[in-house]
Amino acid sequence: MRYNLGVGVDKNWTMTEEVFIQELLGKCEAVMSLGNGYMGIRSATEESYVGEVRNTFVAGIFNKFVDGEVTELANIADVIGMVIRINGERLDLITGKVIDYNRTINARTGELTRNFIWESTNNGRIQFHFKRFVSRDNLHLIGQEVEIIPLDQDVNIQIESGINGQMTNSGSQHFKEKSKRMYDHNFLQYVQSTIQTKIDLVLNSVHELTVNNLVAETKEIIRMKRRKIYKEIKINLKKDENLVIHKLSNIYTSRDRDYSCDSLVELQKYALNKLKDAIKLGYTELFENSVNAWKNKVWNIAPIQINSTNEYDQFAIRFAQYHLEIMTPSHDNRMNIGAKGLSGEGYKGHTFWDTEIFILPYFVYSFPEVARSLLEYRYLSLVSARQKAHDNNCEGAMFPWESAWLDDGEVTPEWGDADIITGEPTKISSGFVEIHITADIVYALWQYYQITGDEDFMNRYGYEIIFDTAKFWASRLEWDASTEKYSINNIIGPDEYKENISSNAFTNHMAHFNMMLAMDCYERIEEGSKELFNRLDLELNLKNAHTDWLNKTDKIYLPQPNNEDIIPQDATYLSKQIIDLKIYKEQEHVGGIFDDYNLHQINEIQVTKQADIMALFYCLEDRFSRETKLKNWNYYEPKTLHDSSLSLTLHSVLAADLNKLDMAYDMFQRTARIDFGPNMKSSDEGIHSASIGGIWQCVTFGFGGVRMYDGKLRIEPKIPKEWSEFSFIINWRGDQLQVEVNQERFIITNLTGRNKDILFLHKGEEINIKERVEIKF
Ligand code: BGC
Repeated sequence: MRYNLGVGVDKNWTMTEEVFIQELLGKCEAVMSLGNGYMGIRSATEESYVGEVRNTFVAGIFNKFVDGEVTELANIADVIGMVIRINGERLDLITGKVIDYNRTINARTGELTRNFIWESTNNGRIQFHFKRFVSRDNLHLIGQEVEIIPLDQDVNIQIESGINGQMTNSGSQHFKEKSKRMYDHNFLQYVQSTIQTKIDLVLNSVHELTVNNLVAETKEIIRMKRRKIYKEIKINLKKDENLVIHKLSNIYTSRDRDYSCDSLVELQKYALNKLKDAIKLGYTELFENSVNAWKNKVWNIAPIQINSTNEYDQFAIRFAQYHLEIMTPSHDNRMNIGAKGLSGEGYKGHTFWDTEIFILPYFVYSFPEVARSLLEYRYLSLVSARQKAHDNNCEGAMFPWESAWLDDGEVTPEWGDADIITGEPTKISSGFVEIHITADIVYALWQYYQITGDEDFMNRYGYEIIFDTAKFWASRLEWDASTEKYSINNIIGPDEYKENISSNAFTNHMAHFNMMLAMDCYERIEEGSKELFNRLDLELNLKNAHTDWLNKTDKIYLPQPNNEDIIPQDATYLSKQIIDLKIYKEQEHVGGIFDDYNLHQINEIQVTKQADIMALFYCLEDRFSRETKLKNWNYYEPKTLHDSSLSLTLHSVLAADLNKLDMAYDMFQRTARIDFGPNMKSSDEGIHSASIGGIWQCVTFGFGGVRMYDGKLRIEPKIPKEWSEFSFIINWRGDQLQVEVNQERFIITNLTGRNKDILFLHKGEEINIKERVEIKF
C-alpha cells in the first residue's frame, strides 16, 4: 500500500494498492470502502474473485436469520459487480498480464479508482479505468464509471451488469425476493424484503454507454435469474475507441425517514423517479455534488493539519475522519455505529461501548448534532435496556452490551471461536455480564452536555437515562458484610481476558460516577425544573430511588492504590500467576495467546487484553494522582497485549497526559496502522471503528491536550518531536475554536463569537481566549 502518491490538492489524501493480490482482497475491500452513513459498500472489484467479500449495508437494516442466531446487519443486493468479457474472454486479473495496476481511494473526494492494462493472449492489451462513489450529497445514490479502450485490435465487448440479490452474510440469506423488472427499456428494479423484520428495499440501476463521447450502438438484452436482474450488453469496439459506461444505482427502504411513501408500490415509483432525476444530471455533476458535500459538510468544518516528518500522520488523521463520516448514520437517530462501521460483517453491525468512549468525542467536538443523534439512539433503546434489567432481576435500565435495532435487546452471540483445549466453541459471556456499558453511556452523555450545553437534550433524554441507569446500578450492587461495602460481582470489565470477576475497578468507579451524577441531577431538577422532576418522578419513582442512592452510593467499594500504589484491576488479579508475555506482545496478529491457552487458563494469568485501569484513568482522571497513574502504567502496560484495537488509543492519550511523548507517539502510530497500515489481514472483517475514533483522540485529546474537566474546557497541548506543527478545530458550546500548536507555542482563535469571553484551563490557570490567545511553552 502506498500513502504518499497523492500530489497537489490530493497530497496525503490517498491510499493506493499497486499490486493486485487475490489472497489479500479483504484489506482494500474494507479500508477503501465507500459510504455516507446511510449505506456502506465494501470495495470489492467489479469482476468477482474467489475469497472476495462483497457487502453492501444500509444502516438499520437488521434481520435475524433463524432463531438461535442474533440479529445482524443484512448484506443487501449488490449493484457493483459486473462480468466483462472481451471477445468472450472474461476479465480476470489472475489470468493474462496486468500492467500499470493501481487502485486508489481518495478521502477528500470519496472516490475509488482502479486503472490497469490487461493483456490476454488473444485480445492484445485492453486499457481499463474504473471509478466509483457513494454520494455524500444524495444518501441513496451510487455512481460507477467504467472505461474500456482496446489498445491493439478491434474487439467485441460483452458486459453483464445489474442488481444481484444472491448476496448473503457468510451463507445466511436475509431476504426474500419481492419483485424485479425493467422500466423504459433501461431502468432495472429489484425489490427485496428482510425475512424476519419485513423491511422492504428497492434498488434501481440504469446504464448509459458512450463511445468516444457519442451514444454507443449496443445490443442489450434483459436477463432475469433467481434473485438477479441484469442487462447483457454487447458492443463492437474499434482499436483505440473509448467505451464509457456510467451506471447509476439507488437504494430506498421502508425504514427511510427522509420522504414518505404509503405503500411499497409508491416507494418503487418514488425510487425509480429519483434515479430518473439523477441520470438527467449525469455522472460528472452527481460526482461533483458529492465532492462538494464532502468539502462543505466535513473538510471545511473540521480540518486537521499535521506537519510531521512522517507524512503518514496527516494521511492517517484524514482517513480516520473519512471513515468516521462514512460509518455514522447521522441521518437517523434510530441507528448507531457498528464496531466495523458499514465495512464488513464483523460484529454483525452491532453497536458497543466503542461508540460512546472512542467515537463519540469526535462528533461531540466537531459535529455536536451528530453526537446528539447517536445519544438519542440510546434513549430510544431504553426499551431494550429496561427489558434487560428486568430479565436480570434488576431495576431501571441496563443497556445491552451489543445492540442492533432499538427493541432487539441484547444481541451478543453466545458462542465464539474454538477453545483449543476442549475443542468446543468458547462461550461469550459479555452479553450477560459486561455491564460497564451502562455507565459508559452516561459518562458520554454527560460529556456531551458539558461540552455543548444542550439543555434541551438533557430535559428530553439525558436526565431520564441518568436516573434510570442509576436505578439499575443501585439494584445491581451486592452487600459484602465482611468489608461493609457494596460491590459488583461476577462481571467482565473492559479486559475481556478476565471473566466472572468481582470489584473491577473500572466498573465500580464508573457505576459510582453514574450514581453520584444521578444524585446531583436529582437536586438540580428538583429545584430548577419542577415539571420535569414531577414527570420523571411519576415515571421512575424518583424519590424512592433517590433514597436508595443516598443509602448506597457512599458505600460502594472503590478500589484504591495498594501499598505499592497499584490499583487492583479486580479482586483477584494481583494474586494471579505472572508469565513471560513477550512473544504475545510482539505478535503480528491479535489473540495469539489463544493458540497456547484457553480462556479459562488466561483467566488465571496476570494478562490483560486491553486498557482497563487505563480506561479508568482516562474517564475519571481526577480520582487518581499523576504518580499513581505512572506507577500503574508501568505495572499494567507490560501485561497488556493490546489484543483489542481499542487499547492503544487510550494508552496513547494517557501517555501524552503523563508527558511520555515518545511512547504516546509510538502508540498513536500503532493505532493509526491497525487498519491503514501494512498488515494486510487486520481489516478482513471490516475496519475497527473504535480505533479509528481513537486516531482522532490521540491527536486532539493526547497531543492537543483537550479535555472537558469539571465542566470546564482544558487545553494543554504537547507536541511530539516528529511534528513541527499541527492544528485542529473544536466546537465548545457553539463556538468554533481553532488550536494551532508548534514547538514553541500554541494559539487558540475563536472563529465564531469574536470578542466573547471563553475560558479554558491551562496547567491549572484559567485563561480567557476572547478573540485569540497565544501561549509560549
Ligand atoms: C473488545 C471490546 C469491544 C469489541 C468491539 C472486543 O474485542 O474487547 O472492548 O467493544 O471488541 O470492538
